Amino acid sequence: MEYKLVCTKCGAEYDRKSPAFRCVKCASILEVEYYYDGFRLPKGFRRRKPSQKKYVPLLPLSRLSATMGEGGSELVAADGLRRIIGQSVRLYLKVETENPTHTFKDRGSAVEISKAMELGYREICCASTGNMGLSLAKYARAHRIKCTVFISKDGNPKKIAKIRAQRARLVKVDGDFNDALLQAERFATRRGAFLCGDYHYRKEGQKCVVYEIMEQVGRRAPDYIFVQVGNATLLAAVYKGLVEFKKFGLIGKMPRLVAVQSDQCAPLVTAYKASRQVRYVRPATAADAIAVGFPTFGFEGLEAVKGTNGCAVSVDDSEIYRAMGLLKESMGIGAELGGATGLAGFLKMNAEKPSAFKGRTAVVIVTGNNED
Ligand SMILES: [Zn+2]
Repeated sequence: MEYKLVCTKCGAEYDRKSPAFRCVKCASILEVEYYYDGFRLPKGFRRRKPSQKKYVPLLPLSRLSATMGEGGSELVAADGLRRIIGQSVRLYLKVETENPTHTFKDRGSAVEISKAMELGYREICCASTGNMGLSLAKYARAHRIKCTVFISKDGNPKKIAKIRAQRARLVKVDGDFNDALLQAERFATRRGAFLCGDYHYRKEGQKCVVYEIMEQVGRRAPDYIFVQVGNATLLAAVYKGLVEFKKFGLIGKMPRLVAVQSDQCAPLVTAYKASRQVRYVRPATAADAIAVGFPTFGFEGLEAVKGTNGCAVSVDDSEIYRAMGLLKESMGIGAELGGATGLAGFLKMNAEKPSAFKGRTAVVIVTGNNED
């Protein structure tokens, strides 16, 4: 789809060929703004099976040249969890661990690497807590693009080994994810590398997960979608995808979005509850994939929750461990802690107030599985 790049804060416009990742005037993040007027969905759109490729007309690309078969993940009924969740709620799991590097990140990587290639870049870099670095390293290697990953020196050793195995250059940063982010942004500017990560193009790739959910549930449109929050890109992307599907007349009502974080790193949940802006917290959760003290898409994440009349909930790390165990034992689905956080949020809210979910449909996105 035709688009322009716009600053989310001051409205400054950028050429779509611009490598800018933040506004040069106010340092805010940019947004892909489409020209929806006059846009028509391709013929036979509704009949085609959900997949990342199917949604290319809704992306800022002419072709998805860097695809590795991401997307098209299963949406499964969580019947194995009936004993715990009761009989009156319909719960579905969107199994994003089926992607090539076992996380939803691959959807964003396919779009970012395709865009980098379209703009003629042969080198990329990113900051990562692990999963994004692994995903980008794999996609970059497959397309002969040089890749540098900035990661906290306290990052998950198993993920670091997996990134190394993809032959990416690894830079360990003395600090947390936000320190790594700063270094990656400086490196990109200095080297003229294409900066990948939680920015506007990745968000576009990640919105496809909710297109798929809405197509896969069919007539039983979900009342709730539970999304774990690290950098809040997925949450912001899911909201954008829903707004677009509504605009195109593909869905009626909007599901409520529930943001879930760990108690030990909950800047978005705290901001939501206190009705204020997101402030930095020092991440201390064992769920490394969502250990982000200051989410890049924090503001947009809050908008997603408010705009759908949703809510934000935090769970203890022990509740995340329990959800991870249940996914494995009752559903046969492997997930890492961050990947099981959305389910932990659902289980907590359902246990506290089962009547809120009586006769309702809820979807939980199981985001990743890279800890073993
Ligand atoms: Zn600006």
